[in-house]
Amino acid sequence: MKVLKFGGSSLSSAARMKHVAGLVRQGEKSIVVLSAVADTTNTLVEISDYLYKKNPEGANEIISQLEQKYISYCQSLLQTDEYRNQLLEILKSHFDYIRSFTKDFFTLFEENIVLSQGELLSTRMLEFYLKEQGIHSVVIPALEFMRTDKNSEPDVVYIREQLTKLLSAHEDASYYITEGFICRNAYGEVNNLKRGGSDYSASLIGAAIQAEEIQIWTDIDGMHNNDPRFVENTMPVRSLHFDEAAELAYFGAKILHPTCILPAKLANIPVRLLNTLEPEALGTLISNSTDKGIIKAVAAKDAITAINIKSGRMLLAHGFLRKVFEIFESHQTAIDMVTTSEVAVSLTIDNIKNLEKIVDDLRKFGTVTIEKEMVIICVVGDLEWKNVGFENKAIHAVKDVPVRMISYGGSNYNISFLVKAEDKKRALQSLSAHLFNDTDNK
Ligand code: ASP
Ligand code: MG
Repeated sequence: MKVLKFGGSSLSSAARMKHVAGLVRQGEKSIVVLSAVADTTNTLVEISDYLYKKNPEGANEIISQLEQKYISYCQSLLQTDEYRNQLLEILKSHFDYIRSFTKDFFTLFEENIVLSQGELLSTRMLEFYLKEQGIHSVVIPALEFMRTDKNSEPDVVYIREQLTKLLSAHEDASYYITEGFICRNAYGEVNNLKRGGSDYSASLIGAAIQAEEIQIWTDIDGMHNNDPRFVENTMPVRSLHFDEAAELAYFGAKILHPTCILPAKLANIPVRLLNTLEPEALGTLISNSTDKGIIKAVAAKDAITAINIKSGRMLLAHGFLRKVFEIFESHQTAIDMVTTSEVAVSLTIDNIKNLEKIVDDLRKFGTVTIEKEMVIICVVGDLEWKNVGFENKAIHAVKDVPVRMISYGGSNYNISFLVKAEDKKRALQSLSAHLFNDTDNK
């Protein structure tokens, strides 16, 4: 069985949802994972924000606007009064439920319930549309199988057992539909897999049932070899290794959530990125196989801060890096790039919430300097160190750009450059010109 995940933009109107239903129907029995309709989760976040600020009128206004949008959606989606009225009743009960939170104390617990409503609605809408078309689809509620453990990690054993049970209870269904993003935590409370987490749901579900393939349907033709907003004539990359895709997803390619990679990779289930608007296009296939000798793509991650710690004490000392890293750990800040010399270390972070405290602590060990407004440019492909000439090609491509840091050799799939934000565009363009428009590398 395949898992098909459709993102919010693929569901942004009734016409789009009908189109999605058509795509589902072209295939055999599958599990369809849905995000909320485009912008819904943002609106639910906004509603929660009003409620945190104890402004029920503000919240009510937005709730009513959102409800109107859903009523029109439902009216365009369904033809028959019978199904329409049933779905309108369901919509009403969800919106009344959201409204009930305007009258009470509002905490994270309630917020998580509010945020879950988007996926709870989109799945019911597709179910009703398919039903009206005479297709027997069944909603398998994510809240009955998707669960995280006490460390907020997916409880994969529970997920597999519950999901298997639920699927076999509805063996006669032609298609299964379930909510992406939402789950319960170890205490049974409604929770979620963080923003953009529907891709993660699809991957966890695919791994749990040993799916034949996980398809992520969005509105672009797969991952591109560079960022189309800055570089002309970018091309979709047809195949990627999981590790290449992970680097690209983390370093800027928005099409796939980085958390989606690991469960599929461990279970060795291919992930295919497809385009709802152009279903015949080949998209991108992500799997455990590597294409030898090819540089695949370039991506950029913005708003990076570089930190340099220079210390005479580092010379011939051991344990220095550990002390430096511990400071970042104690301030719950992830490090992206690291380069070292005998007397200094430079590293980068993207979350600067605790920057002041970090710098304060680092000053105990040496002289600290900071550079903001930096960008990591990440080049991905078969960059195993034993291959000759590839890293050289990438470095040659940025020969006119001042490079603050280079990271190579950490994995077999990547080389990263840290440059100033103002140099990002020309670095990306030059990399495309040298790496992808060069006939040697085709
Ligand atoms: N609806 C959720 C969000 O907007 C999850 C997702 O779309 O993947 O973050
Ligand atoms: Mg999404």
